[in-house]
Amino acid sequence: MTFKKSDRLQQLPPYLFVDLDRKKTEVQAKGVDVIDLGIGDPDLPTPRFIVERMMAAVQEARYHRYPSSLGRASLRKAAANWCKKRFGLSFDPESEVIVLIGSKEGIAHFPLAFVNPGDVVLVPTPAYPVYHIGTLFSGGETYYLPLTAENDFLPDLDAIPGDVLKRARILWLNYPNNPTAATAPPEFFAKVVDFAERHGIIVCHDAAYSEMTYDGYRAPSFLETPGARGLGVEFYSLSKTYNMTGWRIGFAVGNPDMIAALKQVKSNIDSGQFGAIQEAAIAALESDQSCVREMQDIYTRRRNTLVTGLQALGFDAPLPKSTFYVWLRVPGGYTSQAFSALLLEQAGVLCTPGNGFGDAGEGYVRMALTVPRNQMQEVIQRLEAIL
Ligand SMILES: *Cc1c(COP(=O)(O)O)cnc(C)c1O
Repeated sequence: MTFKKSDRLQQLPPYLFVDLDRKKTEVQAKGVDVIDLGIGDPDLPTPRFIVERMMAAVQEARYHRYPSSLGRASLRKAAANWCKKRFGLSFDPESEVIVLIGSKEGIAHFPLAFVNPGDVVLVPTPAYPVYHIGTLFSGGETYYLPLTAENDFLPDLDAIPGDVLKRARILWLNYPNNPTAATAPPEFFAKVVDFAERHGIIVCHDAAYSEMTYDGYRAPSFLETPGARGLGVEFYSLSKTYNMTGWRIGFAVGNPDMIAALKQVKSNIDSGQFGAIQEAAIAALESDQSCVREMQDIYTRRRNTLVTGLQALGFDAPLPKSTFYVWLRVPGGYTSQAFSALLLEQAGVLCTPGNGFGDAGEGYVRMALTVPRNQMQEVIQRLEAIL
């Protein structure tokens, strides 16, 4: 007997990395030592003091019971303190902070709280795929906002048609941006607040890369923008900041009605993250953040090696001041797919074709700074040999 999958699953775009993984395995089977710049997952381990906090906490019986879907009060407090230190913003841990099972979980579930079938969600392209997928699962329709080099990878809000705006409920933003590595100036956030107020739209800002910044650049919080706290929430992740992708822990802060609605969704779906993991997250957030600065230094050196090497080979490669991605325009005559296939098959270098993040990513590939510097040098040598 066969069972037909739901329309919502059938509508899903193919998951990009499945295809990439298959191609990588094929090339590896030929004996090639593939250098993987494909997936945005830090290669270095979680700092030792965080792991140790987990090891102690895991033995405590109080963590063995159901956690709360809002998250432990102590972690919500640590998250609020972190925001206070980092941005000077005060959030009430009781009503303005919620713990997430990784920020992806909150991002995927948030539309269930505010989107009805027929409603529109404004989603950048290229982008992290979950904004569109959460929209789809909630029965909403995605309206794509192209991010182009001409617009500094900021969406053109004035170009959205009036009939779309009437049905729009949520605007997703993500700065520092995956995959383009773009940053948003405070003037842009001010424009967003004005736009969202005029049209009654919720702004969700994905700040997963807020701490992955270089050359002295400090990413602002969207919620620092005057008026933003009345209409928005911000999603934070410990994954990239503390090399904790596998732990599944993040949090959201912002408008209390939105946090309460997300809590209502979550309390009906999940029961929160394991208490010992939340305890480890407290250790990370309450630390002196020197581990973050160490990672920033490591990524800066890798970035410099990769980008100066690419530039020497004649690529139009910008030096990103945030994220751990290089968003590289492919040479003339190639599509994203053709160029990444060339790099994988001829040089054993895996990078992500830009169109995998949406049609507007065509003409680019994304390279992640997730291998040591000597391998970055090897990438440049291999490219030199084939180009
Ligand atoms: C990695 C990433 C996340 C997800 O982080 P988790 O907290 O691990 O779920 C969210 N948004 C963007 C843009 C990312 O690249």
